[in-house]
Amino acid sequence: MYRLTDEQRMLQAVVRELAQEKIAPRAAEIDDKAEYPWDIKELLVRQDLLALPFPEKYGGTGSDLVTFYLVVEEIARVCASSSLIVAVQALGSFPILIAGTETQKQRYFPNLASGDWLAAFALTEPGAGSDAAAMKTRAVLDGDHYILNGSKCFITNAGIAQVYSVFAMTDPSKGVKGISAFIVDADSPGFRLGKIEHKMGIRGSQTGELVFDNCIVPAGNLLGNEGDGFKIAMMTLDKSRPGVGAQAVGIAQGALDYAARYAKERIQFGAPIASLQAIQFMLADMAMQVEAARCLVYEAAARVDAGEKGITMSSAMAKCFAGDVAMRVTTDALQVLGGWGNFEIRISQFEI
Ligand SMILES: Cc1cc2nc3c(=O)[nH]c(=O)nc-3n(C[C@H](O)[C@H](O)[C@H](O)COP(=O)(O)OP(=O)(O)OC[C@H]3O[C@@H](n4cnc5c(N)ncnc54)[C@H](O)[C@@H]3O)c2cc1C
Repeated sequence: MYRLTDEQRMLQAVVRELAQEKIAPRAAEIDDKAEYPWDIKELLVRQDLLALPFPEKYGGTGSDLVTFYLVVEEIARVCASSSLIVAVQALGSFPILIAGTETQKQRYFPNLASGDWLAAFALTEPGAGSDAAAMKTRAVLDGDHYILNGSKCFITNAGIAQVYSVFAMTDPSKGVKGISAFIVDADSPGFRLGKIEHKMGIRGSQTGELVFDNCIVPAGNLLGNEGDGFKIAMMTLDKSRPGVGAQAVGIAQGALDYAARYAKERIQFGAPIASLQAIQFMLADMAMQVEAARCLVYEAAARVDAGEKGITMSSAMAKCFAGDVAMRVTTDALQVLGGWGNFEIRISQFEI
């Protein structure tokens, strides 16, 4: 089982304070305006938090995944959109970490670790969601470059990132073995941002479509060999799914903190509603679920850190369970708040 080191606990405490003091007061506004929070991105860069997933030799801090996801959780506890700034920097960079050459790492990692560039991961297409292998985006080698045609949808950081890990078919006759991975620079000829989605939540994170219209990508930007793409994508998801779980745990913990605080302050029938056993049961169930999700998430991250093989199921279970817990716990938190749960919640009103 995972155990936090003293160093991890210290970082957790520092990020908790930073999130509470600097990010929480902005959270509701970020969601209202549905604008990417560049000020929060700069704050996270100044704290070196975008450098966590990158090796020290490229300007990163070389942190393990447990440490990295502790940071994601603490930020998500006050602002889910802001947590994605750090989480997606890793998601978009993992394909390069997994399969990049020394030249590719030297070219991209220092600027990603410093936060000068942002990254994105582009796998999903309109007809290829859970079934990623059904992708239609094509990449054809033409001399010293590939020509990409097609589109990707639901891409976090679309139009925000400078660096995209993009998956495309180089040989459709080979099925999943015909998928290849590429690093695509935002200024590549023939690459453009399509539709930006309007979401119900996490609105400060930009999600959108990418269009490749005879997009020219240098052959040197192929990750691994032709046909390695699906394997690289799945290895990336093994590493990144616990991070989505950590985000969900943070969201759930934030809702629980808020509901518990509210229950102690809300007086009905002459006493705080926290004194009612029905409310106590709800809060206890919420706390139990959050802790169970947290254990699955950090266990999966610790297994990735330990280099264990066959961690796909553990990683997927952590993401799935924590996501479901976030849904249940936030719904229960709304119940604890009664009618007031329908109105705008400003998390900064309450200390965690
Ligand atoms: C906010 C947001 C951000 C995202 N960011 C990114 C990103 O950065 N990069 C990226 O590449 N993608 C991203 N995605 C896409 C995300 O990964 C896909 O939404 C996901 O893969 C599911 O695909 P789909 O939405 O097409 O659903 P579908 O695959 O159409 O699934 C629809 C339903 O069918 C169920 N289903 C599907 N297959 C099966 C099966 N075999 N057995 C049982 N049930 C099944 C699903 O569970 C779901 O309930 C993002 C999505 C969202 C909403």
